[in-house]
Amino acid sequence: MIPVQGLAGAKVAVLGLGRSGLSAARALAAGGAVPVCWDDNPAARDTAEAEGFACLDLLKAGAFDDVARLVVSPGIPHLYPAPNPVIVAAQDAGVAVDNDIGLFFQSFATGDWDDFDQIPKIIAVTGSNGKSTTSALIHHILKHAGRPTQLAGNIGRGVLDIEPAIDGEVVVLELSSYQTDLARNLTPDIAVFTNLSPDHLDRHAGMGGYFAAKRRLFAEGGPDRAIIGVDEAEGRYLAGQLSEGAADDRVIRVSVDRKLSGPGWHVFARKGFLSEYRKGKQVGSIDLRNVTGLPGAHNHQNACAAYAACRSLGFAPKVIEAAFASFGGLPHRSQTIGEVRGVRFVNDSKATNVDSAVKALAAFENIRWICGGLEKDGGLGALAEALPTVRKAYVIGREAAQFAMRLGVEAEVCGTMDVAVVRAVAEAEAGDVVLLAPAAASFDQYDSFERRGEDFVTRVQAFL
Ligand code: ADP
Repeated sequence: MIPVQGLAGAKVAVLGLGRSGLSAARALAAGGAVPVCWDDNPAARDTAEAEGFACLDLLKAGAFDDVARLVVSPGIPHLYPAPNPVIVAAQDAGVAVDNDIGLFFQSFATGDWDDFDQIPKIIAVTGSNGKSTTSALIHHILKHAGRPTQLAGNIGRGVLDIEPAIDGEVVVLELSSYQTDLARNLTPDIAVFTNLSPDHLDRHAGMGGYFAAKRRLFAEGGPDRAIIGVDEAEGRYLAGQLSEGAADDRVIRVSVDRKLSGPGWHVFARKGFLSEYRKGKQVGSIDLRNVTGLPGAHNHQNACAAYAACRSLGFAPKVIEAAFASFGGLPHRSQTIGEVRGVRFVNDSKATNVDSAVKALAAFENIRWICGGLEKDGGLGALAEALPTVRKAYVIGREAAQFAMRLGVEAEVCGTMDVAVVRAVAEAEAGDVVLLAPAAASFDQYDSFERRGEDFVTRVQAFL
């Protein structure tokens, strides 16, 4: 745990008692602060009280008297579509609003560091897609290279739950837009922006607010090095804003669309080859085509970003290349489960929307595509561009028949995963890929996209 520094003896209100709220309360108490907790859900309050935390309705008159700060969970709106009334009450009382990420950055460095040979560093990763994969890949490369490292944030453990850093350690954080929007301290050494596409627009009042939330990591944080995906207008704008000129190598530009040129520091991937250029000269290259844990251009973007982060820390291209080869990929994201008689099975249950399914479909050929589920806003129209790689769709979900009709590709209504896997296996030929990339949420049939992916994997394993 990271005990919170700078608030000893102070009363700190904690709103939301899920994983991050409880972990904040514990870290505050460990640092000598006095947490005062609230959650609208009585069961969550019971859990906190059982741990010895005092709960108090923060909407009661005077609840914010003598409170030094309000710490809010990421699921609670602080501005759009409307601020939570507790946040309004804190603002009216002049109390600063923060979250666990802000507390973490304010508390990470300790007096022990005076004796360290190598000061610990933080790499923070944000963006619309690929955050988890990029963060996990950086963590994997560091481990492979023998560097002490911990992974936290939106992936794995909460930021305040990690161990205090040891000599030379690198902490890798995955940060969502909700987290970067509210944190009062945001000071990574290296910050990564993978890409930007519409998501969570209700919480940010549109694309501008969404980009502004992510941009804070760079604008407020002032990292020593910024690694920016420049395949969208927002990334190009951000990279331009952060650099003094074309040769400024505090910014590393990343692309999977085109060859980047000029005197700066660039990492790009084209036709499966990653290239690094610095001061106009090529200094590294890696063949990504046989890296099974990172299939498709979207994963090559993640590979470029992770490569750039590790190059910034001084690792040699060869070390990074060797680590790529042993990266297994994350569960439920373009994850190869196995191969039998030339048929490959891939689980991308995390493709819960049309955009991510398009990326997954673009990564393979001859696809037997298992899709369907609870459809998201925006319709299925955008799938059209990805259909040329699909041989046939096997549709699951409660509304499978309607979903199948609107796909624009040969589709069989299977209804459930067991039927879909049996049918896809029966028809697959050598060279085919059986891909689960639903383009829909899972909640009509499963508790989560993880359960859906596990169901697919279990049924596939019966054939392997
Ligand atoms: P995040 O943590 O940002 O949600 P993940 O790594 O968990 O990102 O991937 C989420 C979904 O997006 C998966 O379906 C995955 O295949 C797809 N994806 C991964 N990386 C990228 C990328 N760089 N661009 C677009 N889509 C991606």
